[in-house]
Amino acid sequence: MKSYQTIDDIRAAVQSAKQAGKTVGLVPTMGFLHEGHLELIRQSKQDCDATVVSIFVNPTQFNDASDYQNYPVDIKRDLDLLANENVDLVFLPNPQEMYPEDVPELKMSMPSLTANLCGKFRPGHFDGVLLVVSKLFQIVSPSKAYFGLKDYQQYLVIHAMARALNFPVKVLGCETIREEDGLAMSSRNARLSRKARGHAALIPRALNLVQKTLQDRRGRRSVDCAELCEIAWDVVESGTLNRVEYMDIVDPNTLEILETLVPDQEARIATAVFCDGVRLIDNRSIQF
Ligand code: AMP
Repeated sequence: MKSYQTIDDIRAAVQSAKQAGKTVGLVPTMGFLHEGHLELIRQSKQDCDATVVSIFVNPTQFNDASDYQNYPVDIKRDLDLLANENVDLVFLPNPQEMYPEDVPELKMSMPSLTANLCGKFRPGHFDGVLLVVSKLFQIVSPSKAYFGLKDYQQYLVIHAMARALNFPVKVLGCETIREEDGLAMSSRNARLSRKARGHAALIPRALNLVQKTLQDRRGRRSVDCAELCEIAWDVVESGTLNRVEYMDIVDPNTLEILETLVPDQEARIATAVFCDGVRLIDNRSIQF
């Protein structure tokens, strides 16, 4: 495994892998790796001849300075985990490398897919994601890139961006990897106290309860989404350390908020919760 800090060096390394006839898979991360990241890497290793993992805590996607400052970092541990997975190339740029001061600021946005959910509550967040991922696509030019469905809105936005900018990359979404009690793995989970960690487990429980409620209501002509979201909201906030930011049922392609569900309709329920001040997100597909 080789790691590089500059754009020129990772470009040259990718170029020589390509010249050797290898297909390249990219897994962008912000580090502090866990099993969720490792599953994306395993998928890339299965599909591609060479896997590039980037670790970059991207300042432009943090709308909250203290969230950026407190984002967990442990590069040594990350590199050990990546070596263990036989990752080929690691890209570890610093902010100056990615955003040189003498380059005028470029803004990207995708209003239609970011009006709701995290896009509504984290202004500018997806603009930063779009910018950094398109830069990574330019730098690495992978044939496939892997993203977690835990960040469902992010996956859709990146998938659409690749099409909008004609990147010759296949953007793939991988299922959410969870802890034993159902909590979606996240680097931010490391910031939860023992008590908060217990309350965080109510998030997946609430989402699963919505699917169960839908099953119980089969035979009806439609169900009211606001009522389902209220049930889930209350379950999450029965944990006194939890504060729900949003809980919405959306169309899985457009992310428009749905008011009702009819039989066989596919949808997704998505939530963001401050658990003792740590912002956690989760979602799952639901079907009536
Ligand atoms: P992050 O380091 O949080 O930016 O995440 C890097 C990539 O890993 C993103 O595509 C995430 O969606 C994905 N990811 C994070 N947590 C999980 C998880 N629990 N299961 C699957 N993918 C995940």
